[in-house]
Amino acid sequence: MDFKAYVRNVPDFPVPGIQFKDLTTLWKDKEAFHNSIEELVNHYKNKKIDKVVAAESRGFIIGAPLAYALGVGFVPVRKAGKLPAEKISESYALEYGVATLEIHKDAIYPGEQVLLVDDVLATGGTCQAIIRLVEALGGKVVECAFFVVLDALKGEEKLSCPVYTLMRY
Ligand code: AMP
Repeated sequence: MDFKAYVRNVPDFPVPGIQFKDLTTLWKDKEAFHNSIEELVNHYKNKKIDKVVAAESRGFIIGAPLAYALGVGFVPVRKAGKLPAEKISESYALEYGVATLEIHKDAIYPGEQVLLVDDVLATGGTCQAIIRLVEALGGKVVECAFFVVLDALKGEEKLSCPVYTLMRY
């Protein structure tokens, strides 16, 4: 399936100079949504994943159905101040702005094989922060999966784990 045909490119959002890859146009289409999650399921079903970890909020749209289909647990990484129990934090630079992400301390057990998912890999700052959170809890990030990787921003070079993506620009 040509997933790129379902992506809406929005210039100058949320700030001038950023071309936003809007995936809502892909997710609202039943076949494109189903086929895109299925492609990830097929790629990961025999890879001995213990948990899928995804960051608020677009990562949840991909991570939850993927974890369900793989029959594994789902762990949300959230923006600062949202998680209720004991947690650890990481701050990082975004393509636009700065942010802090948090994970519950008991979300990952030492030695667990973690698949990290997000919608778009841009500079890699978000993904690196999540990798640090997972590794701080003793988890091993097996691979990072995206719908879109923006090659020009070289985020992949920053990551300490392999990358799988449905689309590259
Ligand atoms: P980064 O930390 O720079 O890799 O940014 C990745 C995060 O920001 C992802 O969670 C994306 O949802 C979002 N993001 C950054 N750049 C874009 C873009 N051009 N289009 C859509 N989302 C983006």
